[in-house]
Amino acid sequence: MNALNRSSQGAAVQAHIRALPLYVPGRSEQSVAREYGLSRVIKLASNENPLGCSPEVGKALAEHLAHGQTALARYPDSEASELRHALSRHHGVPPECIAMTNGSHELIDLCAALTLHDGNEGVYSQYAFQAYPISIRARGAAAIQVAARDFRHDPDAICRAMTKSTRLVYLCNPNNPTGTVLRPEDIERILGAAGPHTLVVLDEAYIDYLDPALRPDSIGLVARYPQLVIARTFSKAYGLASLRVGYGIMQPEIVDAIARVRPTFSVNALAQRAALAALADQAFLQGTQALNRAGIAQITRSLQRHRIEWIPTHANFIAIRLNDAAAVAERLLQAGVVVRPLSAYELHDFIRVTIGTEEENELFLRALLQAVEPA
Ligand code: PMP
Repeated sequence: MNALNRSSQGAAVQAHIRALPLYVPGRSEQSVAREYGLSRVIKLASNENPLGCSPEVGKALAEHLAHGQTALARYPDSEASELRHALSRHHGVPPECIAMTNGSHELIDLCAALTLHDGNEGVYSQYAFQAYPISIRARGAAAIQVAARDFRHDPDAICRAMTKSTRLVYLCNPNNPTGTVLRPEDIERILGAAGPHTLVVLDEAYIDYLDPALRPDSIGLVARYPQLVIARTFSKAYGLASLRVGYGIMQPEIVDAIARVRPTFSVNALAQRAALAALADQAFLQGTQALNRAGIAQITRSLQRHRIEWIPTHANFIAIRLNDAAAVAERLLQAGVVVRPLSAYELHDFIRVTIGTEEENELFLRALLQAVEPA
């Protein structure tokens, strides 16, 4: 490709797409190791499972690949029937109420495709997952950000922000990147205030980390609020982030609409096999939850001892308040610990750290204390 005709490059791209911010994911271990010449890098930047995934997943994938040359040559089951039926039994909902997607991010994005265009509105909370305003604005719709209160979704303000032009509301529970939780009654209040023409996406990517006593009966709400979409993922507690499996629970009419806009084979065959094996190993999930609880206790004990502030978390990460968060994140990188500075969320004095194994947490804490008070 040459550099001629530069003035026309990208001219076909709509102006509102060119104006979108770029979603920047956490850096990989490999790129950090290369840049800083490190032999060991601990990645605590993308809320992945530090235990990896269930050992059953490897066995299931090996078995699938043992089918010989056809294992990869055939297109996958576009409806992921076996996985959808397993999820149906797991959640006690009919399979017709489940849509499978390439990670929950695809579902989140497709919900905007179903509802938004130039002239209407999507609503989301300040300090909520960065992908929401991108999906809204990509459709030419107005992205209405509702001010958070104490770093949390403010349900009253969200209800007030909904107008007759609002077609989509994103809620995140627990919320990324703050780890805060929405009370079940607040979720219902928002659903009650949303009109029948407003789709409400309840993003529960981190729900497996939330204390069961604080969990809403979100799936039960789908029967009562037909405009509700629950977004779930195998990327976090099930440890399958690289395979990209997400799903939604919703009324069959919305599943049908998703099927019309979703790229046909968005969940590949290996991902389907892996998710089936992961779902069957609930003992692994419980181990993950226990490790996460212990990790939060370990990290917050140390932060408290050193008088460092944090936002109480209900997820597998923690937002920590620091004077010069971006500089601390850079010093942590140099020490081989990758965390996420939260300036993209305008939380300039925070970093977000994924809860790791006990050893990873210890190494992070040691590096943090040095980074906060550089010699
Ligand atoms: N929702 C939230 C709140 C997230 O933090 C993420 C991942 N960062 C996602 C959805 C998307 O995850 P995935 O596509 O891997 O399911």
